[in-house]
Amino acid sequence: MSPSRVLVLNSGSSSVKYQLLDMRDSSRLATGLVERIGEQTSRLRHTALTTGETREHNGPIADHQAALKTVAEELARDGLGLDSPELAAIGHRVVHGGMFFTEPTVVDDDVLAEIERLIPVAPLHNPANLTGIRTAMALRPDLPQVAVFDTAFHTTMPESAARYAIDTRIADRYRVRRYGFHGTSHAYVSRATAKLLGRAPEDVNVIVLHLGNGASASAVRGGRCVDTSMGLTPLEGLVMGTRSGDLDPAVIFHLARVGGMSMDEIDTLLNKRSGLFGLCGDNDMREIQRRIDEGDEEAQLAFDIYIHRLKKYIGAYFAVLGRVDAIAFTAGVGENAAAVRAAAVAGLEGLGPAVDDGLNAVRGDAPRLISPASARVAVAVVPTDEELEIARQTYALVGKDK
Ligand code: AMP
Repeated sequence: MSPSRVLVLNSGSSSVKYQLLDMRDSSRLATGLVERIGEQTSRLRHTALTTGETREHNGPIADHQAALKTVAEELARDGLGLDSPELAAIGHRVVHGGMFFTEPTVVDDDVLAEIERLIPVAPLHNPANLTGIRTAMALRPDLPQVAVFDTAFHTTMPESAARYAIDTRIADRYRVRRYGFHGTSHAYVSRATAKLLGRAPEDVNVIVLHLGNGASASAVRGGRCVDTSMGLTPLEGLVMGTRSGDLDPAVIFHLARVGGMSMDEIDTLLNKRSGLFGLCGDNDMREIQRRIDEGDEEAQLAFDIYIHRLKKYIGAYFAVLGRVDAIAFTAGVGENAAAVRAAAVAGLEGLGPAVDDGLNAVRGDAPRLISPASARVAVAVVPTDEELEIARQTYALVGKDK
């Protein structure tokens, strides 16, 4: 039988998330997470879905190489080792693919060099992604390694949406443009929303709201992204867990000149100490809702700012798309926080969408509609599955000839 398994690796700066899938039926065979790589308190949590067994390792894991070796050992204990002839490929999440990578790509030396060249625009993510790829290549040099880029889905954006209004020569020299992120999720969710509506992706216009700790919105026309809220980096756009999203760029000059802050301090402020956390000291929407229920005004204001920005993007994407068939909520907040969904759509009835309180309150893992049948624009909750999407794209690239 031809190899049908794909290992998906999502390598962060101090973590590696992984899933092993069988692409004959898209089933998960194993999943796990290595955290705090490089510290004394590293932890690996591995679940074999074939047996239902979960194992945990606590203790130092020095680097990504050691982490992947431990993952390989765990998989081997379940008879799912990386040396198995059933493994077709390893699919890697790569955050920044610039303008060059518009499709999933089999990794070779040129691809590695290009991902490396993009480090200045993704200093937190691309180095970790590269380490993951190189380590996996060393473990299985004969196996196709496929890079699946967070930015790829957004490369269909027209220049009018992708360019900033700055001197074109400077923008081109330093590759300053709007790339967008969470593309794998926006691609998966927009397609799943079309399926939920019983229509072909080519016939459907969707506003996707990926609301997790990082958050982004996208306008998808007939399966192709035409605008998205993140830009050169994942800092632009919506209010996020710890990131500011949109602000007047002059805030940065002001903080430097008047506040005497360094560029690094401002970078940290806007990426790590802003957003919901900066506004109220919490970045977890559950905690914010709990505080609001207790009458906490600071938490209420943080929530209101979050919703106001979200509404502005929904309105903007109605204008960008002209006709909207559905709004889809996804990721940690979008899938779980009914209050956020209700507040984001409240007052937009004139544009077509509406939320049914009863449907909105129902929890579940499956894609579902939360709008009343009478709504002109459907509102949906569509759980994202970035790992499955990476596995699908990887398998589509390497599995088709087998
Ligand atoms: P993600 O980045 O997609 O994993 O989303 C993580 C975020 O989802 C957390 O920081 C929470 O703010 C939010 N979240 C997760 N579960 C819930 C829940 N049950 N209710 C509200 N928010 C949630």
